[in-house]
Amino acid sequence: MSDLRLDATQLERYSRHVIMDEVGPEGQQRLLEGSVLVVGAGGLGSPAIQYLAAAGVGRVGIVDDDVVERSNLQRQIVHADGDVGTPKVESAASYVRALNPDIDVETYETRLTSETIAGIAGDYDIVLDASDNFATRYLLNDYCALTGTALSHGAIYRFEGQITTFTNGSLAAEDESNRERPCYRCLFPEAPEPGTVPDCATTGVLGVLPGTVGCVQATEVVKYLLGTGDLLKGRLLMYDAMDMSFETIEIRRNPDCPVCGDSSAIDSVGEVSYDGTCQLSQAE
Ligand SMILES: [Zn+2]
Repeated sequence: MSDLRLDATQLERYSRHVIMDEVGPEGQQRLLEGSVLVVGAGGLGSPAIQYLAAAGVGRVGIVDDDVVERSNLQRQIVHADGDVGTPKVESAASYVRALNPDIDVETYETRLTSETIAGIAGDYDIVLDASDNFATRYLLNDYCALTGTALSHGAIYRFEGQITTFTNGSLAAEDESNRERPCYRCLFPEAPEPGTVPDCATTGVLGVLPGTVGCVQATEVVKYLLGTGDLLKGRLLMYDAMDMSFETIEIRRNPDCPVCGDSSAIDSVGEVSYDGTCQLSQAE
């Protein structure tokens, strides 16, 4: 039986998964054989990294080029006071190793670019976007849409969050005949002009908000790797912490989308300058 691949320590560690019909020893094995790249070890990345590591996702990659600042600690809970001044990838990786020595953690102390993304993200089953800037968000979307890599999207603003999962044709059940799945550019074809959307440092953010959003993203990744349940595919979950409301709206592929549309303008991330509005370089 395949469940014998889990050793005694793993059977104990993951026992609350193993006893569930929806997971079982086979599902736990799938998680242990799975991999996720978490881009951003900040507010969204912190809870996502913690739960994905605890769940036994076998290989967790972490990308971040920042160091821990004291002002991060109000929400970026994978880091502690003693980590101030150390690279976030180091701090997050040491948390993961202490929590679950059963899994591999790989760190990339860098900011993803159109030149480096394939070498880093190409090796993972699914990417979790926990970034805090439009350049990275559009780069991840374009790369994942063009390569058929699943992408968990999460974003926060003050008291509000939004989450969706772009499967990008990576599920076994997906083929060219059901290409109605959208990508991020179907919703927002271009990034806003730099400086027009204020960031957390300018507007503040409720500390617990990214915790909720990052946990939903981690839930989607676990379900994706297990191949169970209904993903937020073609659905955008909108969370408002102030009135504690969760609303789901349907999102569709835009036939005019520059990446996944019928006559897509963008064929590779090398064609886009990921600053400004993230448009084709030639269009400048
Ligand atoms: Zn699209």
